[in-house]
Amino acid sequence: MAVPRKNNLLIVDDDSSNLMALSYILSEYVIYTAKNGTSAIEKAEKYLPDLVLLDIIMSDMNGYEVLAALKESDKTKHIPVIFITGLNNIEDEKKGLELGAIDYISKPFDEIIVKLRVQLHIRIINQLRTIEYLSTTDQLTELPNRRAFDNRLSMEWGRALRESVSISIMVADVDHFKIYNDTYGHQQGDMALQNVAKIISQTLKRPADFAARWGGEEFVVLLPNTDSRGALEIGENICKNVATAEIPCDDGSLTKLTISIGVNTQIPERETILDKFILDADKALYTAKDTGRNRVCLYDSASNAVKGG
Ligand code: GH3
Ligand code: MG
Ligand code: MG
Repeated sequence: MAVPRKNNLLIVDDDSSNLMALSYILSEYVIYTAKNGTSAIEKAEKYLPDLVLLDIIMSDMNGYEVLAALKESDKTKHIPVIFITGLNNIEDEKKGLELGAIDYISKPFDEIIVKLRVQLHIRIINQLRTIEYLSTTDQLTELPNRRAFDNRLSMEWGRALRESVSISIMVADVDHFKIYNDTYGHQQGDMALQNVAKIISQTLKRPADFAARWGGEEFVVLLPNTDSRGALEIGENICKNVATAEIPCDDGSLTKLTISIGVNTQIPERETILDKFILDADKALYTAKDTGRNRVCLYDSASNAVKGG
């Protein structure tokens, strides 16, 4: 499971003594501070804090405008914001909550109330993050799971369609894995899958490349902005790196495995069907299996056939 990190907060207030007081009260967290709206937006983008404490009346932008700007950016729109403000009539509180703030604290604030409210929100934020992690991560390999992959695929597919650029997919399946399990035991099989997952991740170079565990001994990799030549090269590298790796057993002996990969590349058009994109990569995988395993095959959409092997 991901290592928990210390939670961090961004406190925004144009009054230095408020900033100091709040930083002191909340010193159990990593604190960033900003004295105006522009700097608040910059620091929110840069540090992606877990929570923002936001003053409303400030010299350049007011807190409502800062919140609206944070909500407009994909990077910062999910960051929860608590207003902490000298405006303390019901209408201001309503407006803040309607704009998407998660809480509203009036000044002058009580130290204990600020501390407890922030603790409560941080606890909820951490729990949501754990749920998010568990629902998108494969527990054995710690790679993203199929659900996370499906989300990423539809996002990247949409982008490739809008920008008319190539997108590649690789479907990879460990060869003769049943025999591996039968020979070395299921637990060693699990270890081997962890190793294969690591090799696949380490072979990918671009931050946008996305590997996931598809299920069982199958993995899938999405390569945005990658043509068939590039995808084949990465596939070959994965095959080579898996085949040359020596996977240790508990008794110190070393075991080996191979993997077969099917690749499909498309520049999506409005009428291209996403499911077919995956199914055709799967066809290429079957050809890789049929022609000897430990190899990469490419689906060729022009001839509706598989190349390579
Ligand atoms: P092929 O080369 O044709 O892919 O042969 P294969 O033996 O890999 O394929 P098959 O589908 O017959 O067997 C897949 C095996 O993968 C059987 C299943 O028990 C094993 N497997 C699937 N998931 C896991 C897992 O999480 N852990 C372990 N240890 N084994 C798994
Ligand atoms: Mg399989
Ligand atoms: Mg297999």
